[in-house]
Amino acid sequence: MQTITLGKTGLRVKKLGFGAMYLPRIKPEESDRVLNHALGLGINYFDTAAAYMDSEEKLGRVLSKRAKDFIIMSRSNSWKMGIDAFRKDFEQSFQRLKIQTIDFYGFHAVNQPDELELAMKEPLAFLKGEKATGRISHIAITGHNPVTMTEALKTGEFEMAMFPFNVIEREPLQTLIDTANKRGVATSIMKPLAGGVIESKQPALRFFLDHTIDVITPGMMSIKEIDENFKAIDEGRPLSKKELADLEEEVSSLGKEFCRRCSYCMPCPHNIMIPFVHMIHMKCYGKEMNDDVAYTLELGKRMLPQLEACEACGKCVEKCPYDIPTPKRVEELRELLGSGNSKH
Ligand code: SF4
Ligand code: SF4
Repeated sequence: MQTITLGKTGLRVKKLGFGAMYLPRIKPEESDRVLNHALGLGINYFDTAAAYMDSEEKLGRVLSKRAKDFIIMSRSNSWKMGIDAFRKDFEQSFQRLKIQTIDFYGFHAVNQPDELELAMKEPLAFLKGEKATGRISHIAITGHNPVTMTEALKTGEFEMAMFPFNVIEREPLQTLIDTANKRGVATSIMKPLAGGVIESKQPALRFFLDHTIDVITPGMMSIKEIDENFKAIDEGRPLSKKELADLEEEVSSLGKEFCRRCSYCMPCPHNIMIPFVHMIHMKCYGKEMNDDVAYTLELGKRMLPQLEACEACGKCVEKCPYDIPTPKRVEELRELLGSGNSKH
């Protein structure tokens, strides 16, 4: 497995990283096994967030016993709720992870220009202070909107950028990846398999071998997944023209319907979290019931009161550059969550 350097930080990690967002779905003992398996293969970059329920705790159970042979990133989206909330999440990350230093700590989900403006004020000053004391080594930013992320990197304040990029969502190729590379900002790829909608996982991972990104960080929660992903990257074989064409053909229908979670459509007058609507719809609507579908439906039930308030005003559709039919999906999701049956 190729080892790469994360931007200008000098930190060396394997090309395949470990996204820990799904760890809350498995029991602690199973999570220990999965994480130790990843470490055994040499995977040494771990990505988590305060919002991922007990993910930090599960990482802490294993990583805190390893003599710092890993690099970790955590982040919080509570900068949106004020500095006290952000500080609380920050301190909680150290307690949960049971470590003294966090390599990368940052802002989770900075999507809109006004959000970036807010993060750059007191929350950034706070992180810079923590970096000066050595509790964190580098400041990071994550978000789904490549334009906002590009603007963030131009400020020169960030040493790591994490964003979605995959064979369907190629917008980061326009300016974001180039800006990161020119400024020596490390890049970590979230949703390399488009949140699980791409069936041909091996080619979808090999797609990145032709692009100048640093670490690929799929969410993983089983040894089987780790082994499959590891094999795809380890072979170091970029896609041939024919393989790329086949993959593009496979995802072509998805591309037209696929919400990029960029949040251009936000805010909704009824505070509906539109990207979340699409994530749940994509994973559950018309799908056979299984553990993953049941888990996602359970998450979605929390937003049912907001969904009930949608008046199909169409403001979100006007703002979406991809013509995604949000009101239709809100209605379908409302029915789905109301009935608890994934088949409609
Ligand atoms: S519905 Fe459109 S604008 Fe809204 S997050 Fe999805 S792709 Fe972006
Ligand atoms: S159509 Fe529904 S989801 Fe879209 S902006 Fe209007 S109320 Fe919000």
